[in-house]
Amino acid sequence: MSLNFDAVEISVIIPFYNESSSIEYLFARLIPVLQQLNNNYEIICINDGSVDDTFEKLIEFNQQDPTIKIVNLSRNFGKEVALTAGIDYASGAAVIPLDADLQDPPELIIQLIAKWREGYDVVYAVRRSRQGETWLKQVSAKAFYRTISIMSHVPIPANTGDFRLLDRRVVEAIKKLPERTRFMKGLFTWVGYKQTAVFF
Ligand code: UDP
Ligand code: MG
Repeated sequence: MSLNFDAVEISVIIPFYNESSSIEYLFARLIPVLQQLNNNYEIICINDGSVDDTFEKLIEFNQQDPTIKIVNLSRNFGKEVALTAGIDYASGAAVIPLDADLQDPPELIIQLIAKWREGYDVVYAVRRSRQGETWLKQVSAKAFYRTISIMSHVPIPANTGDFRLLDRRVVEAIKKLPERTRFMKGLFTWVGYKQTAVFF
């Protein structure tokens, strides 16, 4: 049995945990970007046990626009599990995890796809500055990336979220990994392949 929805070229996968207030803004920015691309696409929304009306809002969007698809988890599992569910359902030749809270600019997808067309398998989005974040968040993020790079055998790019493009071959490699407790950013890098960055 295949979990996939009908196959498309580009899958954007978005984990949602109590994101009711950002849904309209998110789709208002994301959909025009995807429509520019001339590729068929799907937006897979993983509802990770939200207790607000995220799920009801997603259903409304899905009824208007079938490219917006929903995977509804039975409870809150945390974002790494939500992303894993998204990866399992995504059928795209390219798969793009995106945060729901608009910390990742959807417009950058154009550049991710351009690099993919040049032949890269993983194109990750790197934040140039953490402006607008509290001092504590900036310091803790720095410490986090430093610690993780000491612990890890593969370099984990700093100031990089889950927002990136993964070619189908990378997605298939990730699906074969046995880890159940996952740090997706680490696995995305660990699998290798031809990787590059775009900055924002
Ligand atoms: N998220 C989720 N499950 C959770 C927590 C968060 O699916 O238990 C989603 C959330 O809705 C967002 C993304 O994961 O789309 C990143 O979450 P958040 O902005 O809280 O994390 P941060 O920006 O600190 O990495
Ligand atoms: Mg966030």
